[in-house]
This record gives sequence, structure tokens and C-alpha cells, in this order.
Amino acid sequence: MRSQSHKMTVSIDQHSSHLEPLRMFFNQLDNEDTTIEKRSRQQRDEYQLKAINLTLEHVWKNNEFYRSMLEESGFKQPSIEHLEQLSSVPMLNKNVIRGDKTKLLCVDPKEIGQVHLTSGTTGKPIYTSYTLADQYIYDLLPKYPVLFPETVTDVGAVALPYEFALPGLGFQRLLQFSFGATVLSLGKGGYMAPVDKSLELMKEFQASVLVTTPSYAALLVEESVRFGIKLGQDIRLRRILLTGEGCSNTFRSRLEKEWGCEVSFFYGSTECGGIAVECKEHKGYHVMEGHVRVEIVDPVSGKTLEYNETGEIVVTTLLRDGMPMVRYRSGDIGYLQKSQCDCGITMDILHLRGRMESMLHLNGNDYSPFLLEHFLMEIPDISLWYHFIIDQGDLTIEAEPYRTSLSNEQLAAKIRKHMLDRLGIACKVEIKHALPRTFGKATRIFIR
Ligand SMILES: [Zn+2]
Repeated sequence: MRSQSHKMTVSIDQHSSHLEPLRMFFNQLDNEDTTIEKRSRQQRDEYQLKAINLTLEHVWKNNEFYRSMLEESGFKQPSIEHLEQLSSVPMLNKNVIRGDKTKLLCVDPKEIGQVHLTSGTTGKPIYTSYTLADQYIYDLLPKYPVLFPETVTDVGAVALPYEFALPGLGFQRLLQFSFGATVLSLGKGGYMAPVDKSLELMKEFQASVLVTTPSYAALLVEESVRFGIKLGQDIRLRRILLTGEGCSNTFRSRLEKEWGCEVSFFYGSTECGGIAVECKEHKGYHVMEGHVRVEIVDPVSGKTLEYNETGEIVVTTLLRDGMPMVRYRSGDIGYLQKSQCDCGITMDILHLRGRMESMLHLNGNDYSPFLLEHFLMEIPDISLWYHFIIDQGDLTIEAEPYRTSLSNEQLAAKIRKHMLDRLGIACKVEIKHALPRTFGKATRIFIR
């Protein structure tokens, strides 16, 4: 009896699930020496319809909660005839699954190999459980060689949290199993990898790719100066992938300049995994349509919106056995665009506009915090650390000087004028000389 490798044997080598027909689809692509990135819209729609129907059948058979939701909304059988019909499938709200570890489970608990949790900053965490096959077979089936040009010669430094959240371990698997790359599991300043050691390791092993958050990429820039490590010389990255926090284009440009390499945004979540990623053109995120179906809905009415209409991002996972997400309301805002990208990828483009609850109400209008950051970061005399404080609809900006000869008063006046010109909003400015740094998620907005 091969008891030692029981889990591997059951869950991977001989695992069979509702996803097997999709494995055949991707094998076929491999045989034709093509990838899902460049298939026609119609071919990808056919794939997605098939994947959605396999998922609907799977949840109908194996999950009481999903089944009753479908039955209550009039489904007599778990299938749709065309993709537009997906809008008749009920949406899934975070609150329904928050703190409940089995509600969406569609397999025997002993099949589960890995549990991930959301950070739960706004209440109880959301648990997502994966089978080993989910993570080591199905998740790796779709290949996106234009979006991810990484290869065996790359050394990827993963500076994301490894505890419970998906991103750290997710990128670790992607780099190792999809590209055969070497991984430096840096985490974010934990006990085994303080910042100086992390930078030292990146230098020692000649890291070529860094995956981290915008604020940690900024922190590493400052610390490299302190520890005498020259970015672009001692550490020569080919690219940085940013995830976990939103970030504006100007913040990105400043990081590109400091690190001397391309910086791309990646959008994903612990619940849904990888959702979309930027190509080199940096004109929005290509949806990872092998993994997910993305829809945009009106956040109030729930009605599905058309291309170019802004609303809430709703995600259906296509390659999940353990705990599929069907029409999951992300709470993020954005819009979809048909791809006419110079990179040649035909997958839709997603434009992110931030989280619903973090929209800023100023002068009776709603503003995305990225837009404010975008304008603020145009001023080279301030650092990458700042706070927006909203009090009764008034904006106060706390900013920190950076390599500038301006006095505090001059700098404050410059920021006030710039924001008024760019945004049309009068704000107060306070110059601070030591805004706090963080190893966690950066908090930049305070609403009083
Ligand atoms: Zn592109």
C-alpha cells in the first residue's frame, strides 16, 4: 500500500473531477502550440460556457447552499445555454460566507489540501479551501506566456504575506510549477527575513523578478539606500509585479525609476485567485479568462452592465473543485473593454477603479483614491508616503518632503496649488517629516 503518498496519489496522480474535460481542452491547446491568450473571442466564449456549465453541475450535485440558491431563482437544471444567461444565476455576497468554512465546500473535507483566509480587516475572515489538484493541476492549466514571460532562468523574490492569505503561496507555486523559476520566499519583513536580509538575498541570488505590494516596493527602495545596496546595479530586476493594494500610474512610474525596471499590476483575491494582469502596454489589466469569467454589474440593481460601463466586478471561477466561486461580488469597482491591445492578447481588458467602500466623498462628488494619488505623486518633491484625511467632506493631505530644497511652507503651497489645478479641489496640506512605514497593508486614507 502506498500510504505515504496517499494524498498525492488520490488528489493529483489519479484525481478525477468535473474539471477533467477542461484539462483535455488545455492539452489540445498545448498540442496545437497555442495558448488561451490568443484564441478568438468566440473560441474563448465556448470554453467559458463549457466551464461554467461544468461548475454549475458540480455545485448543484455537491453543495446544498448553491443548489437551493439556483432552485429558488427558477433553475430546474444546472446549466445555461449562452453566456448572457449567466446573469440569471444568483450572485454571491461576501456576508453570506463570512466566517463559515463549509458553506461553499463541494468536496469531502478530507480532499482539502490548503486553506486560505482573507485578512478580515472588516469583520470575520472568509475561508477558501482548495484541493491539491485545484492548486497543483487545474490552476496551472491555462498558460499566459505574454502576460507572464518568466522562465526557468528567472529568480523570483516573493515579498508578500505567506500566512493564510493566497498571494504569497500562490505566486510561489506559479513561479515554481508554471515557469520552473527559482523562488526566494521573502515574505514581508517577518522574523526570518528582515528587510536588510531580504535585500541581501535578492542581491546574492541575482533576483530578476519581484512580486510585492506598492508600499513594500517603496519601503525596499528607502531601506536599500540605508543599507548601501544600489538598485539597478546590485539588484537588477527585469520586472516587478505589484498586487494587494491599489496603486496609481504615477506611483508606478516613480517605482520604475527607482528600481530601473518595468512595473506591472496584478489583480487577484484570496477568494478567487488570479483575476487580471497588465501586459507591457500598461493600458489596463487583461482578464485571465482561462481562470475566471468577469462581469460588471450595477452595484444597486445587480443588472449586468455592458462594455465601458463602470460598476462592481463580479467573478466566477472556472477551474475549482473544492470551493468554486459562482458570481462572487468582489466589492471592487471597474469596467471592461474589448481588447485591441498592441500586445496581441485578445482577452478583455479590465480597468480598476478601487474598492466601493474606499471612494472619497469630496464637495458632493465621489473620487477614486487612486486618482488623488495620481495627481499627488506628480509632485517630485514629496515621498511615496502620504495620508488623505477626509473630515466632513474636506480634504487634508499629509505629505513628506523628498530630495527637495523647498521649505515646508513653499512645499505646502505647491501641493495646494497643484491639487487645485488638477482636481479642482481646495485642500489643506500638512508637511510631516516622519510618516509611519508599514509592513502590513498601507493605510493612506482616514475618514473622520
Ligand atoms: Zn495587452
